Amino acid sequence: MDYFPLFTDIKQKECLVVGGGEIAFRKASALLRAGSNVTIVAPEICDNVQDLAENAACKIVQQKYQNSFLDNKILVIAATDIRSLNEQVFSDANDRNIPVNVVDNPDLCTFIFPAIVERGPMTIAVCSNGNAPVLGRLLRAKIESIIPFQYGRLAELAQKYRAKVKSAFSNTNQRRDFWESVFEGKVAEKVFDGEFEQAEEMLNQKLETDSFPQEQRGEVYLVGAGPGDPELLTFKALRLMQQADVVIYDRLVTPEILDLTRRDAHKIYVGKKSKYHCVPQKDINSLLLEYAEKGHRVLRLKGGDPFIFGRGGEEAEELVKRQIPFQVVPGITSAAGASTYSGIPLTHRDYSHSVTFVTGHLKNDTCDLNWKALAQPGQTLVIYMGLAGLATISTQLVNHGLPDSTPVALVQNATRGNQKVVIGNLSNIEKVAKENEVVSPALIFVGEVINLYGTLKQTNQSRQMSDAHGNLALERKSA
Ligand code: SAH
Repeated sequence: MDYFPLFTDIKQKECLVVGGGEIAFRKASALLRAGSNVTIVAPEICDNVQDLAENAACKIVQQKYQNSFLDNKILVIAATDIRSLNEQVFSDANDRNIPVNVVDNPDLCTFIFPAIVERGPMTIAVCSNGNAPVLGRLLRAKIESIIPFQYGRLAELAQKYRAKVKSAFSNTNQRRDFWESVFEGKVAEKVFDGEFEQAEEMLNQKLETDSFPQEQRGEVYLVGAGPGDPELLTFKALRLMQQADVVIYDRLVTPEILDLTRRDAHKIYVGKKSKYHCVPQKDINSLLLEYAEKGHRVLRLKGGDPFIFGRGGEEAEELVKRQIPFQVVPGITSAAGASTYSGIPLTHRDYSHSVTFVTGHLKNDTCDLNWKALAQPGQTLVIYMGLAGLATISTQLVNHGLPDSTPVALVQNATRGNQKVVIGNLSNIEKVAKENEVVSPALIFVGEVINLYGTLKQTNQSRQMSDAHGNLALERKSA
């Protein structure tokens, strides 16, 4: 972050605008809207600037700029097209430690203006740190289009009822729940419809019903976070991630995804603490119950999909037993992410008519699978948690009938910036994995579809876009 975002109160404070053209007019108008006293100095002024003279807070001085104009000023904007004058204003303001902005001249700015979306008391500021103002403006246009125009009225309503709601709920969690259901429910709909009186009536009714003391009930969200790329989250996952006040996550959840949970949420890591020690599942279950029973909204955030080798089923069983309300949100399983991001389809009419997801790590710590079924031709196998058993897996598949030339792909860190794909076949994959230092998390793909690897990359745009952003996927091919 090159600039620190800050909203500052300039009401009745003295600001200076140097320049008398259209840009000076726009900047001066913005300062006046925020309630400041503005002095505009320029030997020549345009009609719009002249019109500002009607505003009592605006003083126009038709003179050349001089240093003394900076006396008592708390902020300076230079909007002239004379480079030497802009530099002079910048250096004079700097000498006096007055924040200064020379329009369209990032080198001569100690502060910059963000692009702004205003919705009543709500202000959203977008800033590209002076590097790409056009991109900032485009983003602003997008935000403008998705935030209902009446959003500000909602903030006004919140302002009006803030004290009343505070005294109705002593518990901060309940208070937050109340406001969230106002902002996301029927009251908000009425406001957006322009039915303000009805909205207020509904809010009052809701306040009466909701503030009756009731038993605190928590809730658990079992949410699939996908394989790693945050853009693969579902809207629902994101919404619940931003609601939960306790987050229980494991090692497959990337920091970028964790960053999207609420900042003030209590975050508990239950992944591997050392090379061998995971937090036992029963302890994770206890944590879920403990926090939910205290009335919290608990997010159990899991890599991939919660119900695919994620033990989400076991957690849900415990919640059912204790009658704790819960929701399960699917996530993109790593096999789907690895498949699309590496350009290896899971099925293809020419090569594979079915796909099997199987775990290489059984409950009894063995890798004792139904090899006969897995070794059928014309299908794709995706083996989760199989890296440690790679030698056994490839030997058994060959022993049960698959040719040892059957292609195998290992996809490590699928969908992440550091995704790595390693290609081999059943006879050499163990060696190839070692040579290429493949480590967990990785999936094993087995089947003829792997022959398509490399041919579908042109259409795999999302991966290419990440690559273009510098997160170069390290993809090695090894025969
Ligand atoms: N619920 C998860 C799977 C959890 S089991 C899902 O639906 O994807 C853990 C195994 O998943 C890992 O050992 C690895 O085989 C696989 N895995 C999870 N995320 C991965 C990723 N980003 N890249 C490759 N493999 C991944």
